Amino acid sequence: MKEILFLEPVFKSMIWGGDRLRTEYNYKIPSDHTGECWAISAHPNGDCTIKSGSYKGKSLSWLWTNKGHLFGNRSEPTFPLLIKIIDAKKDLSIQVHPDDAYAASYESGSYGKTECWYVLDCDKDAEIVIGHNAKDKDELRNMIEQERWSDLIRRRPIKRGDFFQISPGTVHAIKGGTMILETQQNSDITFRLYDYDRLDGGKPRQLHIKESIDVINCPHKDAAIDGSVIKCSSGEITNLIRNKHYRVQKIDLYTEMVLNQDRDFMNISVIEGEGVIDGTYISKGDHFILPYEYGSFRLEGKMSLIISYK
Ligand code: ZN
Repeated sequence: MKEILFLEPVFKSMIWGGDRLRTEYNYKIPSDHTGECWAISAHPNGDCTIKSGSYKGKSLSWLWTNKGHLFGNRSEPTFPLLIKIIDAKKDLSIQVHPDDAYAASYESGSYGKTECWYVLDCDKDAEIVIGHNAKDKDELRNMIEQERWSDLIRRRPIKRGDFFQISPGTVHAIKGGTMILETQQNSDITFRLYDYDRLDGGKPRQLHIKESIDVINCPHKDAAIDGSVIKCSSGEITNLIRNKHYRVQKIDLYTEMVLNQDRDFMNISVIEGEGVIDGTYISKGDHFILPYEYGSFRLEGKMSLIISYK
């Protein structure tokens, strides 16, 4: 049976969040400082439910455990990916994530976190933090102890449509005035290195200096991304990245396209415009999964989509 799994997102209020998930995506958000929409997630901290159809009301984690055939009966104990939209009105903390090996020893059973960012929108002078300037761990430790944050971190300007890969061990931060679609491993382990001395409910958020120093790659190396584009008269497909954790592509559709879902499963997020998939209306802010053996699907309309699979 060809049934599309549409998901109900989970929202997270954050000290740095804003209201654009309501004003631009029409979501019902819990506060005017909503930072994250967990759009396709089976993580216990934000498990999406199925919106409609045979599995209406079931969580994605329930489906993974009980209806494994929908995802090709894969061996991972949990759904391996997590798709978020992030609305950073203010700066996020400077942070780093562990790889699978460190994560497993830190919090049993957890994955590490490899993530990538597609910039949905940003202010004209927006920037992000990726990488640092310490040549080795000793210099890193010294700069952190002396709180030489502006010498340590690397900032770079960004624009709409930019794409970045954040491998484990990479110092990074999304800065204010930015909306991002994040594709990541299904993990919620973040080591916070510096939080601008901000207070959350009267006290600073916890830092993880030792863990950060343990996992930060020295010296920093920028990760390679793909960026190759396949053009045709009905639209274009951009290969954003492919690694052992995920493959991510962007589709810009002008008229109609027939594609094939021949993977174990395929995550799709509509990031702009509106259209139809196999007769069902979809628009900006919809997120869904095409299950195992879905086969060919027809997209019609004028819209942009981010696709990911493992
Ligand atoms: Zn991160």
